[in-house]
Amino acid sequence: MKKPSKKERNYLPPREASRGNDKFYNSTTWRSFRKKQLIQQRIKDLVTARMLYKNNTSISLYDYNTWLSTEHPLCVHCLQDDNIRKGNTLDHIHSRSTGGADIDPSNVQWLCENHHAVKSQSERGT
Ligand SMILES: [Zn+2]
Repeated sequence: MKKPSKKERNYLPPREASRGNDKFYNSTTWRSFRKKQLIQQRIKDLVTARMLYKNNTSISLYDYNTWLSTEHPLCVHCLQDDNIRKGNTLDHIHSRSTGGADIDPSNVQWLCENHHAVKSQSERGT
């Protein structure tokens, strides 16, 4: 079998690749829902991150500025540990495979790549 070229291998961004071939994550419904959630949460998190940075000396200016330079909301799990990291994956709190709602603002949360990988792994039971 021919090895895929570097371009082919890099075709899918990591976020989509980690979700396999699930068509749902490429649907217009999900994409527009995700975009709306991203914008709304980002606005809320700008306030949260500023407060957290001002009141917490353990947060570095570097981490704060790095996050500000992105367009992403905060990772909710990092936030629990007073860390400012971008959440670039909109995760289903109650996973779809176990009956969680697809499109429901109360069933989604933003996670960083690390936290999303850990959660997905535990959901798969590996
Ligand atoms: Zn995180």
